Amino acid sequence: MAQAIEFNLQNFWRASAALGLSKTSLIETAQKAAHDYPDCILEEIRAISRGANLDVRELLAFNLCQGLVAPDECTVLFAMADATSAGKTLFLKNSDKIGAGSMVGPQFYQHKEINVVLSVRDRQSPAFIGVSSAGSTGLKMGVNEFGVAAGTNIARTVELGKRAVDTTQMRALDRVQLAREGLAKETALEAALLIAARVTENPTATPGNLEFVDARTGFIIEGSYDRVAVQTVKNGIASRSNSFQVLRELNNPGDVSSYCRYVRTQELLESVRGRLTPELMKQFSQDHANGPGPNSICRHGSHYEEETSQSAMVVEIDPEKPKKTRFWIALGKPCHAWVNSEGWVEGSMDKLDWLPEGFLNGDTWKRFWTEEPNLKADSDLGLAAEAS
Ligand SMILES: [Zn+2]
Repeated sequence: MAQAIEFNLQNFWRASAALGLSKTSLIETAQKAAHDYPDCILEEIRAISRGANLDVRELLAFNLCQGLVAPDECTVLFAMADATSAGKTLFLKNSDKIGAGSMVGPQFYQHKEINVVLSVRDRQSPAFIGVSSAGSTGLKMGVNEFGVAAGTNIARTVELGKRAVDTTQMRALDRVQLAREGLAKETALEAALLIAARVTENPTATPGNLEFVDARTGFIIEGSYDRVAVQTVKNGIASRSNSFQVLRELNNPGDVSSYCRYVRTQELLESVRGRLTPELMKQFSQDHANGPGPNSICRHGSHYEEETSQSAMVVEIDPEKPKKTRFWIALGKPCHAWVNSEGWVEGSMDKLDWLPEGFLNGDTWKRFWTEEPNLKADSDLGLAAEAS
């Protein structure tokens, strides 16, 4: 795994350089931001640096400035109990990521960031599992043993497009770290209250959404530089792509992909409302309508700098026995990983001890990551045809 972490760290520095951000200034920004994170996260970052034999200041910048340099893109869908077949809340996130501009060469996996499964069990906080980039303590998406699921997405606003706000000078927070912090709570409400307060005090480095969902309620926190909105979802369905819905007047009207993906997620969820299953959520994760390309839910690119899908996770929350909450994680391109028995793993929150090695060290991601769309999967699904 040390190799995967080193790869991601080098990728991070190349991406920073492409944005004109120097290593020294990012390390300084991270050192200032470190005051706003719990000690256990800082200790974990120190431990990763010892384990991987990498500079601790560099890993601190990689962890706390990730949202500034290469924020998570992504599509999030969820359905409350009344909208699902089994009466159990369902949650899906496809994680998308931009490639680093100056990375060239076949060994760089087309310039993307190696995704791994992160599972943490300690005595101080609830156990959780989710998807992370190798070397990061933050979570792209995940679920804890109380049945609280979390996700994040950057929002492509007009301000972001203009880079109008310089967050390197603020104590700006990192969304993937906040997703993990929220999972230290026992309900989605507690997580949403904590994180909404955190982003009210200090904004995230880029505008975006954080979702916390449990068996009863879903919360979507939309946060920009100077405002925060919270949407509460008690029944029915909800989704987000890389834009706001409550704060929609801030969205960049030129962002076609977020518009296409939001409309498509709503269309898919509505088409089977009341009958939603984990299998259908996995199919939505592979959906190629408006593509396959940058505008489909399963995102593909022809140029390495485009944001494309890197991993996916489906959660089915058990309202009676949260520890029986089930999850499915696919690493690599969703339309390839979900259709190969070695590309995804299924588990439940009471059995986190066993995970195939490739999901932990990055090998599964490397095997199933490609930009080539799996068109055979489309014809097998039949869903695209049905919904369109
Ligand atoms: Zn695909």
